Amino acid sequence: MQASGFLPGVTGLFDDQTSPDAILLSHAHLDHTGLLDRTSTDIPVYATVGTSKMALAGALFANQVAIPRERFRKLVPEQPVVIGDFTVTPFSVDHSIFDCVALLIEAGGKRILYSGDLRLHGRKPGMHRRLVEVLRDRPIDLMLMEGTHFGLPDGKRTTEYDLENAIVDEVSKASGIVFASFSPQHVDRLVGFIRAAKRTGRIFVPDLYAAFVLHLVGSQLAVPVPGRDNDLRVYFPNSMMESAERKGISQKFTDLFEKCRIEIDEIVSTPEKFLMVFRPSMFPDFTMGFPENSSCIFSSWEGYLERPEWKSLIDPARKNPLHLIPLHTSGHILSQDIVRLVNAIAPQRLVPVHTFEPHEFQRQFSNVILPQDGEKMTLS
Ligand SMILES: [Zn+2]
Repeated sequence: MQASGFLPGVTGLFDDQTSPDAILLSHAHLDHTGLLDRTSTDIPVYATVGTSKMALAGALFANQVAIPRERFRKLVPEQPVVIGDFTVTPFSVDHSIFDCVALLIEAGGKRILYSGDLRLHGRKPGMHRRLVEVLRDRPIDLMLMEGTHFGLPDGKRTTEYDLENAIVDEVSKASGIVFASFSPQHVDRLVGFIRAAKRTGRIFVPDLYAAFVLHLVGSQLAVPVPGRDNDLRVYFPNSMMESAERKGISQKFTDLFEKCRIEIDEIVSTPEKFLMVFRPSMFPDFTMGFPENSSCIFSSWEGYLERPEWKSLIDPARKNPLHLIPLHTSGHILSQDIVRLVNAIAPQRLVPVHTFEPHEFQRQFSNVILPQDGEKMTLS
């Protein structure tokens, strides 16, 4: 695998040579964790509690990768940990998944900052202000900065708050059931939908995946946890329960959510009462097809709509097709904000990561270096 270029050529990470001291995770998105189950099992994995929870939920419901319990080491924002010769300090950043961090790595009097994936237009703009403030007296020698948006149009700057208001507008206008399609690991978006349901007098119906995420984060955040003093009702999709039964964990979900469970018959008899988490695999549960005037707020990257499972649901030739309402804002920092943030942190040197347009960094900044994979760099 390593020879084919599929696995990065980091000595000891995937083979039985001497292992690195640690794997540091900024967050639980699959493009950051996907190779975890191929790494040497003796390497500790440092991540926030939230990242470990999102990885667990992703592993149970979305074929993602959990952090093995015996390898997990807790990162707490703004609490330094010493790993070998390095001191690592995580800082909370806002991104489209719960409990993401940037990482400050200090050794030998030098400082490296890895941005993680982040944005300035989420629900928590105070996070990046705090990062800039904390780094004011800790100059950065090298910054690894994500640049997903370079090469893409920034478009209108839509915050998570703007998005929640747009969701409220659409739900207010709707006469039938409103479905919500998004990643439940994006807890800020999940909160936006819950709030929108409250503001429009609807009952929010998470599926098992979203309900389990709320259950997991309920000890860290002020969110309504299904089954605990709120009017959330949980839908148990057939496909998720079949998968849970195969894994031997269906009883766990029944124990957690049975008392607020809602059946499909209740949903289709009064569809206008509900704002409900939806994914195409649930469609067969609606044995009579969608109720009339069903709409779906699609709150993910629109490229997913090209997939056949979505195309068939919105096909106008179908009886009661879904009326699709795309409402989304990016989880990544906009191009104009990349420039703002990097200039505020003012690193000595800048290395682009997580981007298709590393050369755009060179157009925007004068201190960019573009090392090749595996190339050693010395901070002097
Ligand atoms: Zn990410």
